[in-house]
Amino acid sequence: MTDYLKELQMPNRILLGPGPSNVSPRVLQAMMTPILGHLDPDFWHVLDEVREMLSLALGTSTECTLPLPATGTAGMESAFCNMVEPGDRVVIAVNGFFGARMAEIAARCGAEVHRIDVTWGKPVLPEMVEETLKNLGQVKAVGVVHAATSTGVLSPIKEIAEVVHKYDALIIADVVTSLGGLELHMDEWDLDVCYGASQKCLGAPPGLAPISFSSRALEAHKNRKTPVQSFYLDIATLENYWSETRQYHHTSPILSLYAFREALRMIMEEGIENRWQKHAHLAAGLRAGLEALELELFADPDYRLDPLTTIRVPEGIEAAQVIRQLYRDYNIEIGGGLGELASKIWRIGLMGESCKASNVLLVLSALETVLAKQGYAQYSGNSVAAAQQVLAAN
Ligand SMILES: *Cc1c(COP(=O)(O)O)cnc(C)c1O
Repeated sequence: MTDYLKELQMPNRILLGPGPSNVSPRVLQAMMTPILGHLDPDFWHVLDEVREMLSLALGTSTECTLPLPATGTAGMESAFCNMVEPGDRVVIAVNGFFGARMAEIAARCGAEVHRIDVTWGKPVLPEMVEETLKNLGQVKAVGVVHAATSTGVLSPIKEIAEVVHKYDALIIADVVTSLGGLELHMDEWDLDVCYGASQKCLGAPPGLAPISFSSRALEAHKNRKTPVQSFYLDIATLENYWSETRQYHHTSPILSLYAFREALRMIMEEGIENRWQKHAHLAAGLRAGLEALELELFADPDYRLDPLTTIRVPEGIEAAQVIRQLYRDYNIEIGGGLGELASKIWRIGLMGESCKASNVLLVLSALETVLAKQGYAQYSGNSVAAAQQVLAAN
């Protein structure tokens, strides 16, 4: 029996997993703004402002940048279904869970998919992409995850894009975990399609997937021989609503857009570069604390993400038990491993509004206590002290 007549009460959880991240009260407050119709001219400036700020966050001035009314995975679907036609040859670099999802989606679009399989924990490198493209005929698109959230690894997307364009293909970049938390310049790096998600480093609730298409990508869309299979995610029809014509396409998720506007406004106030810097600084503090506990970090040391840190679960410690105790005793969420890394790693996110010095100190102190209870090492407070040292040096 459920108790649906009872009012819903939820804890104010400290979200330090791989997303969603915490949302500022300012952003939640924006969702109390009155509902308007999606064709109401009083709402239109919200669309324009969201588009303008999102373009700044992505580092792009292309004409087609908008948040899709769905989560990050819809961004992935939209990128591939707009760019790929049945029979097209597509290369997908798979160095984690979401690369594998990309390959699955590209195959469902009817593409002939060639995977570049990379050991989880390692980056995708330009030479791997070159090696594959060199031995294939014409390739339509190459898909790469910029910041692999399942492993905590950053791939050098700018250098990969150079190789991809040398072979006259399009580059589709998953920037779900990098957008708003890591250096990203869509135009300068010549990326053709970038998609993200509202709930990671952008600091908004889940439910929107920002996406942007370069002029090269729009040209490829225009030259399609077949219509985009998905009506909902077809960028041409979506653009009719987001551009001057304001033609009905779907009922805009008005409250999500108010929230997204406020989250973007907070990024603009902070300055996108300051925000990248903050994520780098706090992640350095977290890593120092974890290393003081003699925990082994999982990702390749030269390619570590700032918004998300992965840690190997030490011998004899039960990963899920630690996660449960952090929820129960400290009100903290951290993530476990996905797919082949289930029970092998933990994932600690410092994304968007969750990216705070107080959270770094709290999660280290809590983790050290929980591990001590499981017999890993005696509690010393060394992790917090090591993090403090790094955080203070600025
Ligand atoms: C979270 C994530 C996604 C999926 O986003 P959803 O909002 O869960 O659909 C895709 N790619 C990466 C790299 C992610 O971290």
